[in-house]
Amino acid sequence: MTQHFDVVIVGGAVTGSILALALSSVSEHKMNIAVVEKFTPDYSTQGGFDARSIALAYGSLQKLAQIYPLGGGNLAELVYSFATPIQQIWVSDKGHFGKTCLSAQEMKLPELGVVVELARLGEKLNALLAQQPNIRLFCPDSVSQLHRTAEKAHLTLASGHALSAQLIIAADGIQSQIAQGCGIETLTLKDYGQSAIIANVKISEPHQHQAFERFTAQGPFALLPLGEKMMSLVWCVADPTTLMAANDDDFLRAMQQQFGWKLGKFQQVSKRFVYPLHSQKAERHTAHRLAIVGNAAQLLHPVAGQGFNLGMRDLFTLSQLLGQAFQKGEDLGNHPLLCRFEQARLADQEKMIASTSGLISLFSCQQLPVQILRNLGLIALSHSRLARRWVANQALGF
Ligand SMILES: Cc1cc2nc3c(=O)[nH]c(=O)nc-3n(C[C@H](O)[C@H](O)[C@H](O)COP(=O)(O)OP(=O)(O)OC[C@H]3O[C@@H](n4cnc5c(N)ncnc54)[C@H](O)[C@@H]3O)c2cc1C
Repeated sequence: MTQHFDVVIVGGAVTGSILALALSSVSEHKMNIAVVEKFTPDYSTQGGFDARSIALAYGSLQKLAQIYPLGGGNLAELVYSFATPIQQIWVSDKGHFGKTCLSAQEMKLPELGVVVELARLGEKLNALLAQQPNIRLFCPDSVSQLHRTAEKAHLTLASGHALSAQLIIAADGIQSQIAQGCGIETLTLKDYGQSAIIANVKISEPHQHQAFERFTAQGPFALLPLGEKMMSLVWCVADPTTLMAANDDDFLRAMQQQFGWKLGKFQQVSKRFVYPLHSQKAERHTAHRLAIVGNAAQLLHPVAGQGFNLGMRDLFTLSQLLGQAFQKGEDLGNHPLLCRFEQARLADQEKMIASTSGLISLFSCQQLPVQILRNLGLIALSHSRLARRWVANQALGF
């Protein structure tokens, strides 16, 4: 027997879970929502909630504060309960004179953002999803068939469940099977010729809630504060083979050489993971009875920690539009509504894709005039409060 929902979300990692809770909240917990996720919540090893830590900008926290699931406070409160605040972000060009600092105090904010371990966020979101009477989680399960008629979208799951909905939302990550099944191609925009090595690193000195983004010839080297004396590392290099094969002591020595002693000694490193880096986007973000969000819509270089922050703005806009349509009793898959969503998000998406790619090109260029110009740019930034506020406003997702 077919089970009918208002909305089916495919993909239950950070984007899919938060979107389900946002839709539930905006409809006063009346919208009937299904979430289909491939992996059971062993998030230490699988699914979208992997070993990554991500920085959530202040703008994202403000949006999370407007999402109220049943059985708790708002989602920002949930995040703050285990997150590490960022007070300052230092940006520098390794081996050159330019550097600048963005600070929460200057921006008159309690913090610039927070750092969360995705796996931990996943556990908490999953527990919340299970408590919502109007959200049904199909997990572990996946979509084996999808077809759309004029009035509905129909899904058959690997488990044999048959679902129908007014709208399908693809939150199923890069190379979205759902988008492709609806004839939407994924376009590779740029292969950066870099891979990101991620790990958690124990430090000997307190981090004082500082984050660091250091641009090197091979790619950015970023450290985010995590817990008391830990940093989450994202180290982008052209070829990760040697660093991945190094034993922990050699890896820590290489890190120390790259970063210096500002955080004391790098004492211990967790298991390392590698992500090849490229940017891509779905050629369109809507189709008949379909909307696409999160990594399924676009994938950014992690340079400025903007991937999910952009995804958060996308899912928030979509939830607001769907919430309004739901309150009015409108069809949630109606074409004008989906067009409004796509149009509303286009400029921000294009700006973020262009600016993250631009940063990588600018800081990986080894030509002397470009090196001089970018360092003058960093110095100008460090001397101009107005320019710093402008940059911070972009980074904070306001
Ligand atoms: C090294 C690194 C550092 C980063 N740092 C930051 C940062 O500081 N700040 C920031 O904002 N962003 C950051 N990002 C980006 C951020 O991690 C992503 O934007 C975010 O995790 C994307 O989540 P998602 O839910 O859209 O996709 P995914 O995490 O890819 O999840 C997709 C989910 O869909 C499921 N799925 C797939 N196919 C199916 C199917 N057919 N049926 C059912 N389920 C399916 C998968 O199991 C998975 O759980 C970083 C990324 C990297 C690589």
